[in-house]
Formats: sequence, structure tokens, C-alpha cells
Amino acid sequence: MILPGATIGILGGGQLGRMLAIAAAQLGYRCHAYDPNPDSGAAEVCAEFTCAPWIDRNALGLFAAACDVVTFEFENVLAGPLAAIPPGKLWPPSKALEVAQDRCNEKAFAESSGGRPAPYVAVDSAEDLARAVERIGTPGILKTRREGYDGKGQWRIDSPRDAEGLRLPGTNLVYEGFIDFAAEFSVILVRGADGEVRFWDSPHNVHRSGILTTSTLPAPSAVVEQVPAARALAAKIAEALDYVGVMTCEFFATGTGPVFNEMAPRVHNSGHWTIEGAETSQFENHVRAICGLPLGDTRTVAPRVAMENLIGRDVERAAQILAEPGAHLHLYGKAEARDGRKMGHVTRIGR
Ligand code: AMP
Repeated sequence: MILPGATIGILGGGQLGRMLAIAAAQLGYRCHAYDPNPDSGAAEVCAEFTCAPWIDRNALGLFAAACDVVTFEFENVLAGPLAAIPPGKLWPPSKALEVAQDRCNEKAFAESSGGRPAPYVAVDSAEDLARAVERIGTPGILKTRREGYDGKGQWRIDSPRDAEGLRLPGTNLVYEGFIDFAAEFSVILVRGADGEVRFWDSPHNVHRSGILTTSTLPAPSAVVEQVPAARALAAKIAEALDYVGVMTCEFFATGTGPVFNEMAPRVHNSGHWTIEGAETSQFENHVRAICGLPLGDTRTVAPRVAMENLIGRDVERAAQILAEPGAHLHLYGKAEARDGRKMGHVTRIGR
């Protein structure tokens, strides 16, 4: 057990790290953030900050030595440099990162655990893409296998001619069939060091241009009916990875059951509502899990909960939101409200 007073290292200095550090502070821990970007929202609320590149093994080794346990909020740290952190000190385990870093690996892993992803084919050349489009058909989406997020690194393909006209954005891509879904939802779970798994209620997630805009509870029946099968898959994936911490799997609810989209081996935007909407937030339970503490109750505390992301200039509504009863505003300390940038979120609790 890592006791309060100890130092938790957080790889990644964004808003997820910031909210993790706030939850950790409440339980009496100190946090040490690591990020190459000096302008870090997490560093603002951490006791220590290492600003160094992801590939700097020496800096990662020193960082790990200064921490009692290390976790991550950013999943694209490469396996090579990550080896500078002793395996027993890093939770979730690095295997979870390796699987989730690559869209083909994560889909294959979900399949091997009995899940059903969208049909997909790895693409490394224009010929591969033509073959993939012929095999899977259109519409489909070409995605980078690594480092895509918030809809970045994705190209919609509506016809074989679209594929021919596309200048391939490099190699290491995946083409996947477009899923005609009724709704999107996520399974957010926490797995303790002793293997105990707890789930939060699954929110209905709405995305615009690939970016999450809202997560709402209760979810519609099209989602609720598919949650048991989706939970079973997520728990199986977590077990196969010897996972410790919060893990999220995103799904499409379809007429033929849940289709696995992707997994995040970390706290997730669709779980931000748990700060005010659940007995124990995803951030607190992540800290509890990686420190070997008992897990907290994941029950939803209100009949209606809705999280809205404040993206780009949405943040200009902050003062208005503060005047709303039942609204909980979170701002991430980012100075520049660029288009598509997550500036904060608001959770509205309906009693
Ligand atoms: P991703 O980064 O893969 O989660 O994609 C971001 C969003 O794009 C998803 O949440 C969906 O709204 C949409 N999307 C991605 N892949 C597919 C797909 N195969 N079929 C339909 N919509 C998709």
C-alpha cells in the first residue's frame, strides 16, 4: 500500500493529470507531473514538475526515482523510454499502453477477448487502401494507428474514388468500416490491485467532429440494454492486462449489439461527470487503485447528470454557467481558446 504523504508521478501534464492531482491531494498525496510542454495545466497543481522530452530515458529514470508510484494521463509514451520506470512502480502496466497505443492492436486485443470491433484492415500504402476499400466497402474512415485523438488523424471515405484521390498521410494507418450506430457510450471501470472491478454507470456520449461534446445519464434504453455485454468485454480486457486503475472502453450501440471502438488505459473525458455525479470520482478511484487502497463506491448520486465539454470559445460562457443552480464548472487553466481545444467542462446535476 502506498500511504498518504507519498509522491504519485503523473506522466502527462494536461487536464486529466490536473484533475488526478486534485483528487490525490484530497487524499493526502503529493504529485509530480512530467511533460515536455512547460505550459502544463497539471504542473500548476502539482508539488513537483519535470519538463523533459518523452524520449529522455535519463529524465524518466530520475522522475521515477523521485516518485513512490507512477501513472499516466497521456498514452503515447513509447515503450523504449518507458522501460526506465521499474515495472512494479508503473500502474496501469505498460502492456496496457502498448495495446492501446495502436488502433490495430487494441481492436485485435478486443477481438481476442470476445469483442466485436468495426471491420478493419491495416493500411501502409495506396494499394493497401484500395484493397481495404474493396474488402470492407464504403463509407469508411481512414485513421492513423497511433497518436490520433479528438478526431485528429481521421479521413472519411465515402466512395472508392475518394480513396483514389486521397494523398496518403504516411504509413501506419487503419481503414475501418463506418458503423451505423444508434448511440455511443462508454464503460468506465476501476480495477483494484486485488483484481476487484467496479463500474460507473455508462453515459450516453455525443461527439461532434470526433470530439466528445456531452456525456449524459441516464442513457437511453438503446444503450442501457447493451451495457452488460460491453461491461463483460471491458472486464475481460482489464483482467487479461492485469490492469490496475481506471480504464475506459468506448462502444457503438447498434441493432446487433455493442461494437467496440477503442480503449483508454486511463481516466477519460466521458467520466468527468463522476466528480460531482458519483459517490467516488474516476480520479479518486484511480488514485485509490494505484496506491492499493480500498476502492470507493461508484454509485451515481442523482437522477440526472450531464457533462458538457467547453470547447474553444464555449469557455466565454463560464460566468453564465456559474450563475446556474446545479452546475459545476471546471476550467483547465489554458490561456488560449483555440478551435477544438478542450478548455474546461461543466457538470449539471438534476435532482
Ligand atoms: P475515435 O477517435 O476512433 O474514437 O473517433 C472519434 C469519433 O468518430 C467516434 O466517437 C465516432 O463518433 C466517430 N467514429 C469513429 N470511428 C467510427 C466508425 N468506424 N464508424 C462510425 N463513427 C466512427
